[in-house]
Amino acid sequence: MQFKAFEEGIEVNGQTVYAFVDGMGDFKSLGEQYMSNVGIGTIKGGRWLFDMNGWYPQQAWLDGFAAVAAEVGDGVLYKIGRAIPSNAQFPSGVTDMYSAIRAIDIAYHINHRKNGRGCLYDSETGAVSEGIGHYGCEQMPGRNLILSLSHNPYPCAFDRGIITAMAQRFDTKAIVIHDDSKPCRKNGAETCSYLVSW
Ligand SMILES: [Zn+2]
Repeated sequence: MQFKAFEEGIEVNGQTVYAFVDGMGDFKSLGEQYMSNVGIGTIKGGRWLFDMNGWYPQQAWLDGFAAVAAEVGDGVLYKIGRAIPSNAQFPSGVTDMYSAIRAIDIAYHINHRKNGRGCLYDSETGAVSEGIGHYGCEQMPGRNLILSLSHNPYPCAFDRGIITAMAQRFDTKAIVIHDDSKPCRKNGAETCSYLVSW
């Protein structure tokens, strides 16, 4: 389901929220307004004051996100998603398409935390902790094709943007399509499926 946190006590870091607002382009002031409406920063004298190094409740962000989504539509959500990897913390070291797409789930866990403890990615072991869902990465044997299954509370078009940006980081001609034959979160399903080819 879009916009509903999987668990309580999940927080997102300020840098990710900033990447989201910044990615809105022409709609940026709308984003700032909606963020302050849900208690993420405040607007004073026309400026959005907010702590880039802070942590914010994921559900508040999702509530603001849902309000933005209702206003701007899928085209803008896709564009915001595309801008996320250049503004948010993502692992370096993309060496092939698999590592590019795999990096999304790692970044997702780096940028969220649970119950005030450290982020959900352990850089020593490479393990991720559960609680926020996943961005999948399944390479089809012998083909330049990866299936990425999104099981997380973010919207369908936004994820297509993130996956496209990361795929094109490895190959500028990569194509990402939403598999319409599979369930979609826009229709209340738990997951969306994307096919990455290059
Ligand atoms: Zn979908």
